[in-house]
Amino acid sequence: MIPRIHRLFARAGIVSALVLGLVGSTVSAHGPGASNDFGGCRVLLIGVDGTRADALRKVVTQGRAPHLRELIAGGTVTWNAYTGGEPETESLQNTVSGPGWTTVLTGTWRNQHGVADNRFRLHRIAQAPHWMRRLKDACPSAWASSLCDWEPIQKFIVGGSRKGDADFLSFDFLATPDPALKGRDYPQRDREVLARAVEHLAVANPDAMFVYFGTVDEVGHAVVDPAGSFSPDNEPYLKALETVDGQVGELLKAMRARPQFVEEHWLVLLTTDHGGRLKNHGAQTPEERTIWIIAHGGDFPRGLELPGPVPQTAIAPTVFRHLGVGIDAEWGWSKPFGSQR
Ligand SMILES: [Zn+2]
Repeated sequence: MIPRIHRLFARAGIVSALVLGLVGSTVSAHGPGASNDFGGCRVLLIGVDGTRADALRKVVTQGRAPHLRELIAGGTVTWNAYTGGEPETESLQNTVSGPGWTTVLTGTWRNQHGVADNRFRLHRIAQAPHWMRRLKDACPSAWASSLCDWEPIQKFIVGGSRKGDADFLSFDFLATPDPALKGRDYPQRDREVLARAVEHLAVANPDAMFVYFGTVDEVGHAVVDPAGSFSPDNEPYLKALETVDGQVGELLKAMRARPQFVEEHWLVLLTTDHGGRLKNHGAQTPEERTIWIIAHGGDFPRGLELPGPVPQTAIAPTVFRHLGVGIDAEWGWSKPFGSQR
């Protein structure tokens, strides 16, 4: 039999829990509007694989990418960012997706993350983890989501950042390409990523969200279209950029349709992992190394074009600066986008 005093405490405990529950529903750490841990600040990072800066700039200038043009007009852009690491140092890395996305998502180069290529052998992502892991460490109630259709992002970059079985992502979606199609189904997989991302923006309240599209790279490789190549003069490649612009437009529409959007302070960041040349990439030519960054929202000035050069490592600190989360010097991160000069 439970002594009476314990029963009283037990009842008091239930009452406290009910009160806390009511309070909790109004100051929920990952609610909509301004009711998150970051005063309403949120980040949408859109990754477009294999997008040459000169080709994207061309479709934007020609009016073929109205949504990106709107983001650039209302925000800050550089057409002179770079991947591939710092020349003649240990940070040098191949201009391929494995090292590139690892740099975007960990804020470090190969000398820290250890990713040399798309096989991810002997990587050190546990020591240089996904910035969403660092965000979750700093703020355990943060809500971070990742949606992609290139499996190594989920398998190695997200997977390698986990501590034991503990998941730092609140939502993780992978649209898996059919291996038999060797990448030809990326347009369909991108549409699935887009649909889930649009739905997620309607039903969840992410503090940080990464959405990845893979088709542009597969067009450059002449996989989706045999006439494709990585070139500002290749029409299939430019058409793929138009398509991704439309997908960005759908994401922006979903973001702005959030019921408490006016109380939210979204930073929209867009970038790529590498450029390309002819039908491939991986080397250190300007066409492969040069990338671009667009930042819209937060305290980014409107209509500003930064001359660069801006390192690919700038993305992660830009996210943390917007969310007001401290950066530990031991992480080896660079300066955020916009403070290079
Ligand atoms: Zn890539």
